[in-house]
Amino acid sequence: MDTSNDKLERRLYSHDLAPLPKEMDVIFKTMPDQVVRPTYTQDVVQMVIKSAATKKPIVPRGAGTWGLGGSVPVKGGYVLDMTAMNKIVSLDEKMMTVTTQPGITWKALADFLDSKGYFLPVYPSSFPSATIGGWINTGGTGIGAYKYGSAGDIIRDLEVVLPSGRVIHTGDRNVPQNGGGPNLNYLFVGSEGTLGVVTEVTFNVLPKPEEMRIAAYSFEDLSKFVPALKKLVRTSITPMHIMFGDRAHFDYLRAVGKHAPDVGCMVTFALTGSKGSVELEEKALDELVAASGGAKMPKEVADHEWSERCYEFRAREMGVGAIPGEIFIPIENFEKVLKETNELVATMKLKAATIGTIADNNTVMLMPYYFTDDHNFLRTTAAMGFGKKLGDIAFENGGRPVGLGIFFAGNLDKYRGKEGAEVVRSIKNLLDPNGIMNPGKMVETGTRWGISMPAFLMSFGMNMMAFGKRLMPRDKVGERELSKLGKH
Ligand SMILES: Cc1cc2nc3c(=O)[nH]c(=O)nc-3n(C[C@H](O)[C@H](O)[C@H](O)COP(=O)(O)OP(=O)(O)OC[C@H]3O[C@@H](n4cnc5c(N)ncnc54)[C@H](O)[C@@H]3O)c2cc1C
Repeated sequence: MDTSNDKLERRLYSHDLAPLPKEMDVIFKTMPDQVVRPTYTQDVVQMVIKSAATKKPIVPRGAGTWGLGGSVPVKGGYVLDMTAMNKIVSLDEKMMTVTTQPGITWKALADFLDSKGYFLPVYPSSFPSATIGGWINTGGTGIGAYKYGSAGDIIRDLEVVLPSGRVIHTGDRNVPQNGGGPNLNYLFVGSEGTLGVVTEVTFNVLPKPEEMRIAAYSFEDLSKFVPALKKLVRTSITPMHIMFGDRAHFDYLRAVGKHAPDVGCMVTFALTGSKGSVELEEKALDELVAASGGAKMPKEVADHEWSERCYEFRAREMGVGAIPGEIFIPIENFEKVLKETNELVATMKLKAATIGTIADNNTVMLMPYYFTDDHNFLRTTAAMGFGKKLGDIAFENGGRPVGLGIFFAGNLDKYRGKEGAEVVRSIKNLLDPNGIMNPGKMVETGTRWGISMPAFLMSFGMNMMAFGKRLMPRDKVGERELSKLGKH
C-alpha cells in the first residue's frame, strides 16, 4: 500500500474533474490529510480500522471524473485512491461472469472481454478513464442503457469493506440475487462511497453480438426528434444505445476544428443482435424517422459519431471549462424541459449546448453543458447556480437531477420523500455510526466545522449564485471561435 503526505499531491486530490474555487475551503476541508493507494482488500480494511481509531474520514476515489465532488473530502482525512486495485481477478467462462478489482477502467475491462469473445453491455461514456467502483457508486446509467439497463443490472456480487472493517459479499457470483430478501447489491449502487468501499465486483458478461450497426439521423432541431422518440419507445425496436446532440453542440465542435455535421440535431443509434434482426431494426428505424421528418446521415458520419461517443466535451478547447449538468426527465416532458433549459441558458447569459441519451423507454438523460472561464472566480462560482436551476426544472417536470455529491445532498428528501430519506439515514447510521465513510455527502451537506449545512441554506446560496450570474454581462467564451463559422 502506497501513501503520500506530499502537499502538491494532496492538493491534486482536493478536487475532481470539476474545478472547485479555492475559496470553498472556508466551508469544506477539501485537502486530504493523506493520499493512500491500497492494493488489496486487506489494505482497505486496515485503513478503515485506522480511520476509526484516528477519527479521520475515509473518502473512496476512483478516477475523479464525476464532477459532483463525491470523491472530494469535506473534512479532510484519508483519500483512498482505488486505481491501484486494477486487476481482473478471474473470468469464469462456464458461468459467463467476470470478477475484477474496482479500480480498473471500464475500457480496460471491455477490451479484455472483447479479446475473449465477450461483450460488456453497459459502460459510462467516460469509460477510457472512469473506474468500475466509481460508476457503480454514482448509479451508473450510460452507454447500452436502453437495451441492457444500468451498471446495477449486470452486477452479480460486490465485495464491500464496511465502515466497521467487516468484509461482506452482497450477492452471489453464480446466480442473480432475486431469490430471497432485498437485493443488497443495489444498496451500494449509487451510494456515492458513503456506505462502504467496494473492493471487488462480479459482473454478468454476454457473448459478443453477431452484428453491431450504427445509424444516425438529423432533425430540424432537437425538439423535432421528440415525436419520433415517442413513437419509437412504443415499438419493439430496441437499440442498445440512443444518444443525441443539438445544433449548438455540433457548431461548437466545428468551431474548434473537429469533424461534425452542420445539422439542427443528430441522433445516433447503436443496434446489436443477429445480422437479420439488426437489418430489420435499421429498416424499421429508417421508416419511422422518415415519417417523422428526419433524414438519414451517411454511414461514415454515424460511425464517426460512435467512435466519438466517449469524447463529448472536445469543445472545451474553446473555453477553460465545459461544465455539464445532468438530469433525468420523463420523455413525456422532453420538449417542455428543452424549452425551459434554453430559457435558463439565455437568462443566465451562458454559452451552452445540449447532449444526452435515452435511458429507457420512459426516460431521457439530458446533459446540457456550459463553458466557463474558470480562472474567473466570480463568474465560475455564479455559473454553478445553473446546476441547481436545472435540477429545479427536472423536479418540476417529474424528473430529478442525477447524483447528490457535495452540493446536492439536500435533494435526498425530494428524491425519496421524507420517510424514505429517513430510512436511508437510518441505514447510514447503522452501517457507519461514527460517520467515517465519506462524511458530509448523500444524507447531509457536511462542512469542515462539523455542522451540516441546512438544505434550504444551500438552495438559497445556489439560487443567489444563479441570480448573480444573470446580473453579469454576457459570457464571451467561445465567441471568437463561433464567429469563424459566422455564428454567435
Ligand atoms: C466525458 C464524461 C462522460 C461521462 N459519461 C457518463 C455516463 O455516460 N454515465 C454516467 O453515469 N456518468 C458519466 N460521467 C460521470 C462520471 O464519469 C461517472 O460517474 C464515473 O463513472 C465516475 O467514475 P470515477 O472512477 O471517476 O469515480 P469518482 O469520480 O472518483 O468517484 C465517484 C463516486 O464514487 C465513489 N467511489 C469511487 N470508487 C469507489 C469504491 N471503490 N468504493 C466506494 N465508493 C467509490 C466516490 O467516493 C464518489 O462518491 C461522465 C463524465 C465525463 C467527464
